[in-house]
Amino acid sequence: MKVLKKGPDTNWGKEMRCTGYGLGTTGGCGALLLVSPRDVKSHYDDGDTSYWFVCPECGARTYVTSRTFSQLQGGVS
Ligand SMILES: [Zn+2]
Repeated sequence: MKVLKKGPDTNWGKEMRCTGYGLGTTGGCGALLLVSPRDVKSHYDDGDTSYWFVCPECGARTYVTSRTFSQLQGGVS
């Protein structure tokens, strides 16, 4: 079988630091992470959507803006 077109590069992402900036967290560990769009979770609440990723080291949530990954995901709204 021949690969005509490869899937999305899973290693492609954005370098972000674990700051633990989010609700209900106690602070991040400061690790530098390569966050890809698939790592970002979202939650819709009261007309507002929150986006965050979870640090694999300490488990803290760091919130990001929707714009951070909008280009990678082809538009987040
Ligand atoms: Zn962390």
